[in-house]
Amino acid sequence: MDDLLSRTRAAVWHPCTQMKALEATPPLAIARGEGPWLIDTEGRRYLDAISSWWVNLFGHCNPRINAAITDQLGRIEHVMLAGATHEPVVALSERLAKLTGLGHAFYGSDGASATEIALKMSAHFWRNAGQPEKNGFISLKNGYHGETVGALSVTDIPLFKCTYAPLLRHTVQVPTPDARLAEPGESAEAFALRCADALEAHLAGHAATTAAFIVEPLVQGAAGMAMYHPAYLKRARELCTQYRVHLIADEIAVGFGRTGTMFACEQAGIRPDFICVSKGITGGYLPLSAVLTTDEVYAAFYGDATARGFLHSHSYTGNPLACRAALAVLDIFEHDNVIAANRVKSAEFTGVLAEAAAHPRVRHFRHLGMIWAFDVTDAGPGFSSRFHQAALAQGAFIRPIGGTVYVMPPYVTNADEMRSLADTIRVCLADPRI
Ligand SMILES: *Cc1c(COP(=O)(O)O)cnc(C)c1O
Repeated sequence: MDDLLSRTRAAVWHPCTQMKALEATPPLAIARGEGPWLIDTEGRRYLDAISSWWVNLFGHCNPRINAAITDQLGRIEHVMLAGATHEPVVALSERLAKLTGLGHAFYGSDGASATEIALKMSAHFWRNAGQPEKNGFISLKNGYHGETVGALSVTDIPLFKCTYAPLLRHTVQVPTPDARLAEPGESAEAFALRCADALEAHLAGHAATTAAFIVEPLVQGAAGMAMYHPAYLKRARELCTQYRVHLIADEIAVGFGRTGTMFACEQAGIRPDFICVSKGITGGYLPLSAVLTTDEVYAAFYGDATARGFLHSHSYTGNPLACRAALAVLDIFEHDNVIAANRVKSAEFTGVLAEAAAHPRVRHFRHLGMIWAFDVTDAGPGFSSRFHQAALAQGAFIRPIGGTVYVMPPYVTNADEMRSLADTIRVCLADPRI
């Protein structure tokens, strides 16, 4: 294992990491996975409490997803999607259309590329509609939409953004409806509507130069699992329609059942103009993202002029192996009635976490679907790393965001595993040095 760690330090530049920090806290050397468990090269087991950066839904080495990919391997591993098509990409597009009501699927590989595609498509739509000046973007304060240059322009996390500010396009951030920011005595709903008023004020002055408003529906993940009332989305939909600005729902983290419904937008009863999906779409197996959009948007690109079409591409667009993994994931959702089963799990796990929720160091305990989060009142500098290390020693892989601890386990996690996770959290909270 030491050998693997020295080799990784020498040859691999790890993401979202100050490499020097790996001297003090080496990465886990993972050899295998099994359901919600990660198993390192020494055989130690860690509960993957954050689903490997929110991507894993049905556990590691899931036999059903493995079988689908293996079957596809014997047919065709990849073919370019310009000038060719194949059953997995067609079937997946049909099923995503049924699930979202958005009938046209454009594919990318990572979440950030889905954001780029949605932004470009929106601005290009307005250009094709004879309004090229509508090319500005609005996003929420503390929002996260990925880290490529276009996506980072609508992201609002200073740690990721400030260094690259000179490379980015100017965009506007409107107040976040994050329920933690409500005035004392103000309901989450009233606060959400007050924030929507600020969105309206901006749209009233700038709709003529605005292409789209992009949001993470219900949960701002990278902001620290900030949750807000669905009334905000409902009002945002009305305002975007009224002011003729596209609404882009970034469901990259919250899609595929994470918030308790297949897509978070369902809880607000809205249909956005674009939905970006990735992360859970392949159950955490292979990189795949998609942007789904309306007939109206699609029609604006359809015509004889080449340049009127959406001339965007990635080499691995619509990769058949990734599409088969996604189809297997959708089969599991249907066959195992996962949304209903998760409702039961969600209530049960909330009960299991009641003691942590009531801990004196904990405030703003919050929960939606298969996401639980709380803020630690006295979290000092280095808290996240200390908590992470302490949890590892207890057999759980948890990575707090600043002073926010969250768990977002794979849906195959059972009650016993959840209890052991709650014990780990209790032990960590009980240690005043963490
Ligand atoms: C993770 C994430 C992205 C970016 O996806 P990548 O695959 O990491 O590029 C974009 N938006 C949201 C809401 C995310 O959580």
